[in-house]
Amino acid sequence: MRTIRGHPSIKRMLDVRLAATGLSAFQLIKDEIHGPMIIKPLPDLVFIRFCFDFETKHGKGIAVAFLVSTSNGTWKAWSLLTRLGSLKAYPEKIGTLHSRPSHHESWEDQRRQEFEFDEGDPTVLVIGAGHCGLQVAARLTYLSVPTLVIDKNQRVGNNV
Ligand SMILES: Cc1cc2nc3c(=O)[nH]c(=O)nc-3n(C[C@H](O)[C@H](O)[C@H](O)COP(=O)(O)OP(=O)(O)OC[C@H]3O[C@@H](n4cnc5c(N)ncnc54)[C@H](O)[C@@H]3O)c2cc1C
Repeated sequence: MRTIRGHPSIKRMLDVRLAATGLSAFQLIKDEIHGPMIIKPLPDLVFIRFCFDFETKHGKGIAVAFLVSTSNGTWKAWSLLTRLGSLKAYPEKIGTLHSRPSHHESWEDQRRQEFEFDEGDPTVLVIGAGHCGLQVAARLTYLSVPTLVIDKNQRVGNNV
């Protein structure tokens, strides 16, 4: 998770990442929860909030945008939050893709194979087995993305 503020920083990030990311398929979401709405937190402050789906080369995501009304009557982008929700090459393991437990190997053998990466190197290396690292690793493992978590500490959760 990272936040980028101000025109120069946002432009620098877009110059480097926009072409490589391959954003496409923008689609305004109109359902009851995500549909466009006017938010008036204070008498002299008004936001328009809207959400849209988008795709990148590698996945699908959702964005939340806030426009703020300015004193000269125009609307200005205030914030844009984007979140990658799924990976095209690693679809969610639900329905017919749901992993079935193997009856040929014990759970211990399966875990040993996962630790040793018998079938190839991990695709993702997560540095830091803290709250965020373990959460990312659990999610990627659920999507069947081979993931290795490392930590400078001997034991998980021993960092405080
Ligand atoms: C004293 C204390 C009490 C807290 N109590 C609570 C509480 O009661 N409830 C609560 O919800 N939150 C609590 N928090 C906050 C919570 O611990 C943090 O919000 C959470 O741990 C942040 O998770 P993280 O994964 O971002 O970072 P961290 O938990 O800091 O994890 C980062 C990990 O990366 C590893 N690492 C860093 N650099 C490297 C490197 N170069 N190579 C390899 N590994 C590396 C570290 O060893 C660490 O394991 C507490 C925090 C402190 C300090």
